[in-house]
Amino acid sequence: MKIICIGRNYAEHAKELGNDLPKEPMFFLKPDSAILPQKHPLFIPEFTNDLHFEVELVYRINRLGKHIEAKHAHRYYDAVGIGIDFTARDIQEECKKKGHPWEKAKGFDGSAAISKDFVMMDELQNASAIAFQLKKNAEIMQSSDSSEMIFNIDKIIEHVSKYMTIKIGDLIYTGTPAGVGPVREGDVLECFLEGKKMLKVEIR
Ligand code: MG
Repeated sequence: MKIICIGRNYAEHAKELGNDLPKEPMFFLKPDSAILPQKHPLFIPEFTNDLHFEVELVYRINRLGKHIEAKHAHRYYDAVGIGIDFTARDIQEECKKKGHPWEKAKGFDGSAAISKDFVMMDELQNASAIAFQLKKNAEIMQSSDSSEMIFNIDKIIEHVSKYMTIKIGDLIYTGTPAGVGPVREGDVLECFLEGKKMLKVEIR
């Protein structure tokens, strides 16, 4: 399986990092080894001094496809969960400056935290405005809903599937809203989907 991640998909977040708004979905991949095992703490890697959380809605692909039009894209995912796209911000800035790929900053072991449970799309009250939040040490740091995305999941699938086949079990991290920030040893992150706690990660 592969993990597809969208960057700069919320206007306020693009602004907070000083980036222009994208004209088309911007994506990158994480390897499957990036997935943080359930209930495992995340140990801060020794190569970064600025590890950031980014809470994101994560859609689960349940059908193989390529060249999928946005109007048909809803047939290719069945559920949504919540994840954290952990980012070594200092390494990412270095890569951006040099024009290098940023896998070192985004694809390291444990960088893809993901909820064990997913919510089926047909169980959602309003699939086009899915609310989600991240709390750090019980304080809300990020809070948004999917209607704030610049490119919704259907447009993301249309774009990505022009370039690569999407497969059953692939995950799509759909970008983070404003409020990203650093973590330190001892921090506890909790993520909520439609008000329900779905993911907890301890930082060591
Ligand atoms: Mg992200």
